[in-house]
Amino acid sequence: MMGASGSSEQGRDEQQNSAQCGPADPNFRFLMGKVKNLGPAAQRIFDLGKLYLTPDDAEKVQKDKTDFEHLFPAADESHLSAEKEKEAFQLFRPLKKSTAIHQGQTYVQWKVGYEYQSAYLLCLHKRNIIYIQPIDDFPDFVRDFRFQRGMIRVGLFELIQGFAQIYFSGLDVMVLPGIQLENQGWEIASRYHQVTGKKQYLVNDFFPRLQQILPSNGVCILGFVWTDLFPENYNFVLGEASPKHKSGIFSFGRFPPSQFDADHTQDLTEITGDVVWKLLKVVSHEACHLFGLNHCEYFHCAMNESGSVGEAMSQPLFLCPVCLRKLHQVCGFQVLERYQEMLSFLKDIQDQLPCESTASAIKWLEECLTFLQSK
Ligand SMILES: [Zn+2]
Ligand SMILES: [Zn+2]
Repeated sequence: MMGASGSSEQGRDEQQNSAQCGPADPNFRFLMGKVKNLGPAAQRIFDLGKLYLTPDDAEKVQKDKTDFEHLFPAADESHLSAEKEKEAFQLFRPLKKSTAIHQGQTYVQWKVGYEYQSAYLLCLHKRNIIYIQPIDDFPDFVRDFRFQRGMIRVGLFELIQGFAQIYFSGLDVMVLPGIQLENQGWEIASRYHQVTGKKQYLVNDFFPRLQQILPSNGVCILGFVWTDLFPENYNFVLGEASPKHKSGIFSFGRFPPSQFDADHTQDLTEITGDVVWKLLKVVSHEACHLFGLNHCEYFHCAMNESGSVGEAMSQPLFLCPVCLRKLHQVCGFQVLERYQEMLSFLKDIQDQLPCESTASAIKWLEECLTFLQSK
């Protein structure tokens, strides 16, 4: 994608002077697109794409304060702008810059690919619904799980729906009635894993099948199954998505074989905060792939590539400015309202299903909202 203009950008890189970095800078435009006509909160956060374009400062700040928890202890009205810059570095920590920007997927590169891919579908139907599709049976403790959301009690799939409804604000999210594989007549390859002894389904076989049942107003479909999953040539996967098929498939009930110990590892018996975190992490990351987002090479970000489940779970739940810019283009959400709603949602989760990861995501959101709302 973008081979020709990619090489012309290389020329721009050579002329890059970090002192002039900002919305008028061609590298910034290539990374973030035009941000000038967006709302104030959107502009403020997308402007932070420039943190990646000032690698020297980034390294310096990262060395001093690798953990933003040590930063400004509380919201202080009187931040200086230099302080503010440092604060922003703690919200979005640039990855060490080892490649030219066009070797990652900039906003401009993403936009060309995404618009090309979705033009055909958009012509046919107005597609604005993310569908959630439960597949086969789930254990009683999953089926009976209830979460208090405001005045109502909802099940696990409605909890995921509520989260996705905020993460992908601007689109709708709906849960479809459950289906049984045997009634569908889907042929899904399976095997028994040699370490865990558990049955596993091959993820790739789900994608074309899910695509077939994607309703005409659906932008993508996310299948959930209790049985373990494996991708071709790998051991185990929590979830995977195929942008070509507008579908993803997820399984969350088990431990990866690398953590499996036949004497001590037991199947999950309750929905805990860690299980919910795992689900929200994998669903948001994979669904972003369905909107054409590649792995992020610019910042610590929800779209970073991961080599293991443990690594994936420790990565941020939220997108960096570059990736958020892409999702914002797809969904058209209000940046500030989306973060506010997410904060209230995660606080509900933390009240009922506490875990450390959710606690740090809440802290991040509070810092981010303070940054966005400060003068
Ligand atoms: Zn990925
Ligand atoms: Zn990113």
